[in-house]
Amino acid sequence: MIVMKFGGSSLANAERIGCVRDIVASYRERAPVVVLSAMGDTTDHLLEAAEKAVCEGPLTVAKSLETLTEVHLNAALALGLSRRVPDDVRPLLADLGALLAGLSLIRELSPKMKDFLVSFGERLSVRIAAAHFQKTGLNACCMDAWDAGIISDSNAGFAEIEPESYTTVPEKILPLVKNGIVPVITGYIAKDRNGVITTLGRGGSDLSATFIAAACRAEEVQVWKDVDGVLTADPRIVPDAMTLAEIDYEEAAELAYFGAQVLHPRAMQPCIKNGIAVQVKNSYAPKMPGTRIVSKVKTKRSPVRSITMRKNVTLVDITSSRMLGQSGFLAELFAAFAKYGISVDMIATSEVSVSITLDSTYNLEKLKKELDRIAAVKIKSGKAIVSIICNVKQSAEILQQVAGVCVRIGVGIQMVSQGASKVNISFIVDDTEAENVVINLHGEFFG
Ligand code: ADP
Ligand code: ASP
Ligand code: MG
Repeated sequence: MIVMKFGGSSLANAERIGCVRDIVASYRERAPVVVLSAMGDTTDHLLEAAEKAVCEGPLTVAKSLETLTEVHLNAALALGLSRRVPDDVRPLLADLGALLAGLSLIRELSPKMKDFLVSFGERLSVRIAAAHFQKTGLNACCMDAWDAGIISDSNAGFAEIEPESYTTVPEKILPLVKNGIVPVITGYIAKDRNGVITTLGRGGSDLSATFIAAACRAEEVQVWKDVDGVLTADPRIVPDAMTLAEIDYEEAAELAYFGAQVLHPRAMQPCIKNGIAVQVKNSYAPKMPGTRIVSKVKTKRSPVRSITMRKNVTLVDITSSRMLGQSGFLAELFAAFAKYGISVDMIATSEVSVSITLDSTYNLEKLKKELDRIAAVKIKSGKAIVSIICNVKQSAEILQQVAGVCVRIGVGIQMVSQGASKVNISFIVDDTEAENVVINLHGEFFG
């Protein structure tokens, strides 16, 4: 058995759904289980529709609904599904309309409602795709994640899949696979134990797929994208970025965590646990070899694998003479972060100061007020983390090259973090300089 996940870009319209069907059919012998995202940018469009409904009121609902309906019904009709579509898809579109109308009246969108709202994207796409698969001779059935045994905690927007799903998922899926059926399952969404719909964080279909693969002990999980695999940099910043033949789980996880959109940051976890190989492939060029993500890379390769960046980072500089030779100061400091639910990314310390990066400004003013009592706190927004995924055993040469590039292009490095991870050297620059730094570093290491 293999798990094949297709993202929004692979499902943008009827033609792309047709290509996905052909790719799935070409792996028929390997007993595919398919996991799908919402079509194209549907998740973004759903969120925009809700925002409009909440901010501008009921008059926006009809237009938003028309756009969302068109994308799905046009695809279904273009696939020749006219007779089946009403049964499967129209009731969902009607529910979506009612929800948007409700939001436009109560003028509020809680995280729980947001999860319910975006769930329509994946629920619509699996119904349309599975109907097309059936019509074209694949013995497929569509399933919502909860019917496939995926149970999550109740953390709206960032839910974690509960360990019991390692039992419930194979119970639901393996009998279908044994009977030659291709399950077509919603990625990204789940239900908690109370039956409330949740989501696993943006891009979460990757995690749904790797979880299902690990739970069912699949031979492999294939993550189909609109790029040739994991590249040496984001191709939107560095158009001549190259495809990596192989990387290991830890490198892929750090790359995702530090901003490369290509994979969900938590998607590697189920695979690491069970040693399931991941293949990242291009649905626009299925014959290309793609990238293999494995526990240990065997081929010889250069010390730098990939360069990524994450913008909109906030740097917090905390200075206090109380740090000098005192115990318990850092504990007090981090207790304040915990109290306000603020998660920390990079940390650097000196004798009397600590620099910390955050990727959200959530509760930041409250934190500052609290910390002002024990230290001098400076908040600097508009920063970016540039990360080099590499073999840090060679950090001396790599850092020398990084410094050389930054001097050459006149960019100041504001903080460096190296040592905690075996595969990542990260540093902070201004947001406005980040792209230029990535382009020049890529030229230096891969040029
Ligand atoms: P999908 O939603 O179809 O699963 P995404 O759009 O989430 O796919 O991820 C693929 C995109 O990630 C690519 O189009 C590319 O622009 C971007 N990307 C960023 N960094 C990288 C990288 N290092 N390697 C490959 N793609 C990357
Ligand atoms: N549709 C969701 C998103 O756009 C999940 C995914 O694509 O993996 O984030
Ligand atoms: Mg994605």
